[in-house]
Amino acid sequence: MKNYDLLVIGGGAAGMSAALSAHESGVKSILVVERQGWLGGVLKQCLHNGFGLGYFKEDCTGTEYAQKYIEKFSKAGINVMLDTMVIDLLPSGEAVISSENGVEKISFNKCVLATGCRERTIGSLSISGSRPSGVFTAGTAQKMVNISSLDVGDNIVILGTGDIGQIMARTFIQNGKNVIAMIEINDHPGGLKRNQINCIQAYNIPVIYSATIDRIVGNKRIEGVYVKHLDTGIREFLQCDTLISALGLIPERELLSGFETVPDWLYMCGNCDYVHDIVDSVTMQGEELGKRIANE
Ligand SMILES: Cc1cc2nc3c(=O)[nH]c(=O)nc-3n(C[C@H](O)[C@H](O)[C@H](O)COP(=O)(O)OP(=O)(O)OC[C@H]3O[C@@H](n4cnc5c(N)ncnc54)[C@H](O)[C@@H]3O)c2cc1C
Repeated sequence: MKNYDLLVIGGGAAGMSAALSAHESGVKSILVVERQGWLGGVLKQCLHNGFGLGYFKEDCTGTEYAQKYIEKFSKAGINVMLDTMVIDLLPSGEAVISSENGVEKISFNKCVLATGCRERTIGSLSISGSRPSGVFTAGTAQKMVNISSLDVGDNIVILGTGDIGQIMARTFIQNGKNVIAMIEINDHPGGLKRNQINCIQAYNIPVIYSATIDRIVGNKRIEGVYVKHLDTGIREFLQCDTLISALGLIPERELLSGFETVPDWLYMCGNCDYVHDIVDSVTMQGEELGKRIANE
């Protein structure tokens, strides 16, 4: 079985920065395992700008930020396994990994969990009605549109006004789609101020505040949603062929579900540790962690 001083799970901004700074601080054998076929994680699906103002002192798109960091990272010659998923972590300091070569075990002295986060889905709410096609999370829709050039639909309702929802509302409008409304449970929008200005305000996106969706209508394909106004209890029907949920992010720590206590070889950074608003703070946290691991 191969042994590494440091195993990094996830090759997004957090995993790359932790691995690179550990390498620069003297950690000898490092392996980064990434389940997708590319490094950069969620950055690769972010075609909008607003990334890197703090770290690179430049206003980059997500893909540009990823590319800049990947160039730095690649020069270090750190071992990377792409299209490879860590499917189990064992308390003894071993990981089970799955790739096109099959399933194998590796061992490590220390491990950084940099697995990002996953999206809260519509299934986490009590919404009645059928479960037709045309219902996506904002991140899935972003990946479909920006990476796979797929068309998710024409007349779109978005539940939630967080950053990903606002960015996707703007992307849909820029692609000629009709954003019927964003529905927000609070009486004010979520997300960063700059997204409110650059998305909701700049594109005059209709937002229904103090409201939620309580019923989905449609058989094969979604045909509409019932919006419930929380202050009056009144319900209104909005016709749509697509519903996007933007309900927030949950740190992805599924690999730790079998652990009763946190092992002393485990470290976390990036969105897997806590949900960061901007990637600059993810990179900086990863770099700090890499140094700390090398010096412990
Ligand atoms: C829509 C959107 C808009 C944003 N806008 C901005 C913005 O304008 N400005 C800004 O600064 N920031 C923005 N951010 C935030 C920033 O992009 C993220 O905080 C940052 O990129 C997260 O990095 P990460 O490495 O923690 O997670 P991720 O990028 O999610 O990386 C985690 C990686 O781990 C991999 N992985 C997970 N589980 C496993 C496993 N078991 N085995 C192997 N690999 C695994 C995943 O495939 C992924 O590549 C935005 C984010 C989104 C989603």
